[in-house]
Amino acid sequence: MLSLNDIHTYYGNIQALKGVSLEVKEGEIISLIGANGAGKTTTLMSISGIAPPRSGDIRFMGESINRVNPNQIVSMGISQVPEGRRIFPYLTVLENLDMGAFLRKDAEKIKSDLDYVFGLFPILEERRNQPGGTLSGGEQQMLAISRALMARPRLLLLDEPSLGLAPLVVKQIFEIIKKINIENGTTIFLVEQNANLALKVAHRGYVMENGRISLADSAENLLANEAVKKAYLGI
Ligand code: ATP
Repeated sequence: MLSLNDIHTYYGNIQALKGVSLEVKEGEIISLIGANGAGKTTTLMSISGIAPPRSGDIRFMGESINRVNPNQIVSMGISQVPEGRRIFPYLTVLENLDMGAFLRKDAEKIKSDLDYVFGLFPILEERRNQPGGTLSGGEQQMLAISRALMARPRLLLLDEPSLGLAPLVVKQIFEIIKKINIENGTTIFLVEQNANLALKVAHRGYVMENGRISLADSAENLLANEAVKKAYLGI
């Protein structure tokens, strides 16, 4: 579904990605783990067209998307849930969700997708007329995921969904991530510092160090890998 081939991405003179290659197959949950500053967010930003690579190739459903605008990338079926949620604090929950469907014209399906996200997160329906900024951190994460789902993505990019949330809320969010994958068939590419959680939910994983992929394996093997255990699982 998605392949990155030898991606090099820069912020001015700073090189954040130094030849990243990876692939995501349809129906998979893939976790990308790594330390602070390894380049995980930049990988997502490169895929979604916000930080386009200077060289290398990114293909989605067989088409090269390196030079495609972020809005067109959303229309092609890739949605990103950014780190720190980035919901619209002064818009209501419903208006935030409408923004997620901004590029769509299929009104009937938008309505059924709204019912779908309210089914996943009933608390959002209860809070639908409340400004997004008044929600708790966990509810804002639910809103950010739901807003991305309102674009009806085939591939959902999630950046640190566990960041700053209480363990119980994190557990709930990860159960829903799994549900979205299994019940909706949405492919998921997940970036996380909480490696243990991320690998438990994933089919396969990649480890990133200093702008490069240092390990690629099944999630099961990565969880059992001594180096991964020591560096990322605190075991
Ligand atoms: P974290 O888990 O802390 O979010 P990360 O693995 O997602 O880290 P990135 O945010 O992708 O890492 O950062 C990769 C490198 O690029 C870092 O060295 C970072 O300082 C640098 N970087 C990121 N964003 C910018 C920017 N807007 N301008 C300049 N350098 C940046």
